[in-house]
Amino acid sequence: MTYPTKLPRGGVDPPAETLVPRDSGITNAAVPSRALIPLLQHSGKPALCLVKPGDRVKEGMLIGNADGSRSANVHATIPGIVVEVGEHCLPTGEVCTAVAIELGGEFETSGKPRSRREWESLSRLDLLERIRRAGVVGLGGGSIPTHLKLAIPPGSASSIFVANGVESEPSICADDALLREKPSDIMEGLRICQALLTPARTVIALGEQSEDLVPEFERLVRQKGIKADVAVLPSRYPHGHEQLVLAALGSRSPAGEQSATVLNVATLYAIFEAVILDKPLIERVLTVTGSPVSHPRNLKVRFGMGVRDLLEECGGLSSGAAKIVMGGPMRGVSVDSLDLPVTKVTSGIVAFEGLAARPHAELPCIRCGSCIEACPWNLVPTRLFKLVRIGAAAAAEREGLSSCTECGCCAYSCPSRIPLVAVLRQGKHALRGSDA
Ligand code: SF4
Ligand code: SF4
Repeated sequence: MTYPTKLPRGGVDPPAETLVPRDSGITNAAVPSRALIPLLQHSGKPALCLVKPGDRVKEGMLIGNADGSRSANVHATIPGIVVEVGEHCLPTGEVCTAVAIELGGEFETSGKPRSRREWESLSRLDLLERIRRAGVVGLGGGSIPTHLKLAIPPGSASSIFVANGVESEPSICADDALLREKPSDIMEGLRICQALLTPARTVIALGEQSEDLVPEFERLVRQKGIKADVAVLPSRYPHGHEQLVLAALGSRSPAGEQSATVLNVATLYAIFEAVILDKPLIERVLTVTGSPVSHPRNLKVRFGMGVRDLLEECGGLSSGAAKIVMGGPMRGVSVDSLDLPVTKVTSGIVAFEGLAARPHAELPCIRCGSCIEACPWNLVPTRLFKLVRIGAAAAAEREGLSSCTECGCCAYSCPSRIPLVAVLRQGKHALRGSDA
């Protein structure tokens, strides 16, 4: 039986650019001949480099050691020789140390069956250590090391645990593909999380595009003896955001409640691989789409593979391609170089053609209120924008600037094409600068 849901306010319905054929499955991307692996693929400090040029590495070998509590381990995604350790730019513009590996030698694990390890008799600390050691981070966009989200104080419990299968961006359908191909393994990841969190209730939240999977997940819930409900949530953007998922489930307002835990289904699959298959996080499923892409598809990609190689895997781009975005179309980052590598945080690559990519001229505000209606966080974007533009970021902060998640709904719905998000982002940077 599905769980009742209610629609949170705001959000937008951008046209679904997803051109990936439904039920086309997940394709394994070719193994790259060279992988450029950044040591910052998570929310904390970069991992500390453990290798130097000339070192031979095995697939899955630890090459970066987590540095501090919010950092995460980084592993070699291909076997071979380290040919460079140097500073490289990430899609976000940050610069960090990256390890370049040239493919060579044996694949000791890929393509070979992995034995399944027993986990139910392990202590909480041992379970958390397996997840930490494997470098698992939130794959839904947060990139927070997952063991931190699961490490609740002994004796306490989560009020609600949500396995989030609602896509975080329009056009991206990698989670839907994973739900279709790996439902049982995702449920094993869910069971591990339940053992750690002992939640009062568990909800498997699916997006509307995955609604036909409800019977399968309800069957798995019964078969595995799991206490969980299955819910279908509206796929309106950005309602896959964890706080909006909780609001839709009637669990809390977007203001927040500490004992709720939400993990994306791709993260649950990574937990399954880490704990049961003893496999570090070296690859993920992502969507490559957009009208200039010859064969849009969902691919399993090793971190460090370049965007250029990945686009070639999809048959290349048409001559009309004008912009490439890493991430989704709403919150993704437009990239200048196709040499940038896929990392743990890359949920998709979207190509846009000419007109869609061209910036528009800004017109005066006509006070239509569309941006206010679109904001899922009850902010007044037009007011915040005006305050930041006149240099009054502190006043904007008093009206909720720091609650802005930069979802982009306000700018998307503005008929005057006012760059609301870009200016609000500047305001947040100004606030951080004044704190320093
Ligand atoms: S970008 Fe910020 S202000 Fe605009 S709709 Fe999203 S949360 Fe609201
Ligand atoms: S949507 Fe644009 S034009 Fe309408 S009130 Fe907001 S800023 Fe002004």
